[in-house]
Amino acid sequence: MDSTIPLPGHDWPVMQPGWVWLCGAGPGDPGLLTLHALNALRQADVVIYDALVQEAILDWAPQATLIYAGKRGGKPSAKQRDISLRLVDLARSGKRVLRLKGGDPFVFGRGGEEAQTLVQHGVPIRIIPGISAGIGGLAYAGIPVTHRDVNQSVTFVTGHDQSGNTPGNLDWTSISKGSQVIVIYMGMKHIAQISVHLVAAGRSLHEPVAVVATATTQDQQVLETTLGRIVDDIAAANLEPPAIICVGQSVLMRQVLDWQGMAAGVPARNLDPLGRGRAAESA
Ligand code: SAH
Repeated sequence: MDSTIPLPGHDWPVMQPGWVWLCGAGPGDPGLLTLHALNALRQADVVIYDALVQEAILDWAPQATLIYAGKRGGKPSAKQRDISLRLVDLARSGKRVLRLKGGDPFVFGRGGEEAQTLVQHGVPIRIIPGISAGIGGLAYAGIPVTHRDVNQSVTFVTGHDQSGNTPGNLDWTSISKGSQVIVIYMGMKHIAQISVHLVAAGRSLHEPVAVVATATTQDQQVLETTLGRIVDDIAAANLEPPAIICVGQSVLMRQVLDWQGMAAGVPARNLDPLGRGRAAESA
């Protein structure tokens, strides 16, 4: 990638030595970076990045020292503390530090913890939001996270708690009743229990579910299934994390909105998958 393309006119913030900018890298596709992220990548002395950040994005920071701080889900917070303190040390040594995290730093990314530690140590911070996988990843699969005919609310939920178990304190009945669409992050390990919880809470075994793995990358895979079949279908399709799991009727909209499939010449399967008439007719 050419890292010298000028940014359009704007009062771009200047990264000062001793600051840490906590930045979302989006779900994968480098084109889903924000311009603030790009501005930061070009100025940073050090980029500390997570496992979910695509390597291609780091090409935008050829001048920076790159530090990998990857850890995979479910591991406890000792290492998290090391990362936060490392950020503090780097800032104190006068570096311009870019902490780059997958998706949005404040969505299931422990960005809040890192930012808090920095502030507690007197390190100045800036937060740059990113496109979260639970929104952008679904959009790349042709699934609108809200759709007027389907849901007035959406719940984003994590499939792990701090110890790596399914979150025991989640009230699945309330989630199930309160939100027609449920978007599950880090749900692959415990999907069997999660789907049982949801059915016990009143969701149908036939409820549409999509699993979008490595969303927005070249390796994106999308599985359309149901709550009753999801465990078997994930195994049959050999899907691996990272994946976003979306439960709800909006998954059906992929039948008309699979824009990547259509771009590859596969026609829409159903122009009105929810059977509610076309949007243009229902004004
Ligand atoms: N801060 C991130 C989420 C970090 S938690 C964000 O806002 O997107 C890690 C989880 O995010 C993964 O287990 C997976 O559920 C989801 N995720 C992140 N990137 C993804 C991708 N490219 N495709 C599918 N799921 C992704």
